[in-house]
Amino acid sequence: MKKQILILGSGFAGMWAAISAARLAHMNDRDDIVITVLAPQPELRVRPRFYENHVASLVSPLMPLFTATGVNFIAGSVERIDTNEKIVWYKDAQGGTVFASYDRLVLATGSNAKRAPVPGVEKHTFDIDQLESAQVFEKHLSSLVNQAPTPARNTVVVCGGGFTGIELATELPARLRELFGPGIQTKVVVVERGAVIGGRYSEALRGVIEQASEALDIEWRLNAEITAIDENGVTLKDGSHIASSTVVWTAGVQANALTEQFVAERDNQGRLYVDENLQIRGVPGVYATGDVANAASDDVGNTALMTCQHAIQLGKFAGNNVAASVLDLPPIPYRQVNYVTCLDLGSWGAVYTEGWDQKVQSVREEAKKIKIAITNELIYPPKAEREIAFSAADPLAKFV
Ligand SMILES: Cc1cc2nc3c(=O)[nH]c(=O)nc-3n(C[C@H](O)[C@H](O)[C@H](O)COP(=O)(O)OP(=O)(O)OC[C@H]3O[C@@H](n4cnc5c(N)ncnc54)[C@H](O)[C@@H]3O)c2cc1C
Repeated sequence: MKKQILILGSGFAGMWAAISAARLAHMNDRDDIVITVLAPQPELRVRPRFYENHVASLVSPLMPLFTATGVNFIAGSVERIDTNEKIVWYKDAQGGTVFASYDRLVLATGSNAKRAPVPGVEKHTFDIDQLESAQVFEKHLSSLVNQAPTPARNTVVVCGGGFTGIELATELPARLRELFGPGIQTKVVVVERGAVIGGRYSEALRGVIEQASEALDIEWRLNAEITAIDENGVTLKDGSHIASSTVVWTAGVQANALTEQFVAERDNQGRLYVDENLQIRGVPGVYATGDVANAASDDVGNTALMTCQHAIQLGKFAGNNVAASVLDLPPIPYRQVNYVTCLDLGSWGAVYTEGWDQKVQSVREEAKKIKIAITNELIYPPKAEREIAFSAADPLAKFV
């Protein structure tokens, strides 16, 4: 009887888990293992680029890659996981509820933006978290040219000054200029609860973000708490009001809700704690990877972040280890010691740092070249050729 490895999600982690599992089965000459990815679409959506224009193009088809590596694909959206019966229930492409059974399961269903419970937040804010919502935001931005040129029309408020908020805010001046043409006074305001710009980052990185913000004329409202959002803009706790037709929520992200279906411990972002082989603690035969996993990335206390940098490697290790458990081979403990950040800063350039202490290595045009190499090439799927894909899926191959 063939063993079924079922991988939920075709993002960075799910895609790499599938190829890595197929690689190990192939290396061991085993054709009694069936590897299947179950996700709404056979495509990789390049979320790290969703602050850019033309989001519909930021998608990479996966069927040729799956065919080349012998991975099956089922189109569907999982609704329930039954670990006793070892089945998942999902809505298929026709809207019917069907099930798929498994011997081993890999959860790789990613994360979603999480809005704070502020009055008006659901109705009056955009986000750039998923392809569909980023498309809605892009359509709204384009429609602004048809509105009267009031200060509210010309102002975008970005709620949250983390990496996503900074990348969007610094990109927006150029996007608005392109939209409205020269001579129109536009404004981008970042509303941030912290007391300083980039408070969670190293001093050197903070300095660069401040410099770029100043050059791009981005206004930071620090120590700011949003109390209400409506069609006219954002109200802060100090009583001030920012008139804006465009409010974008970027603060907060939560692991996909399927993580709640396991009797297992989760962190405050909803991620499942996994062991060093990426198996969910206390749930035998089920692995979690990418944004749904809380995994130690080294021996000195660092934990994988919700980044595609980590999701790609977590995927390769999870795929290898789930296949190893079927093949009765030793797993490879997950380790990812190197950590870099590369933050786009719009027309000012970018900043590239290395290490967990975020030492700035390059800025402006030089860093921008690195950013483009990462987001336009490095994180995309490998070529749909078996040997190339398998070689890239080796968890021990150098990544960054
Ligand atoms: C605007 C933005 C900017 C970012 N910038 C960066 C950056 O600069 N650098 C960086 O490293 N990271 C960045 N990230 C984070 C990065 O995109 C995520 O960490 C990464 O996508 C996580 O990969 P994943 O495979 O775990 O999840 P995802 O890429 O989200 O993939 C999840 C997959 O699961 C599928 N799925 C979801 N629900 C179900 C279900 N019920 N049933 C079946 N399938 C399901 C989805 O369709 C998708 O295929 C950014 C994210 C955003 C939104």
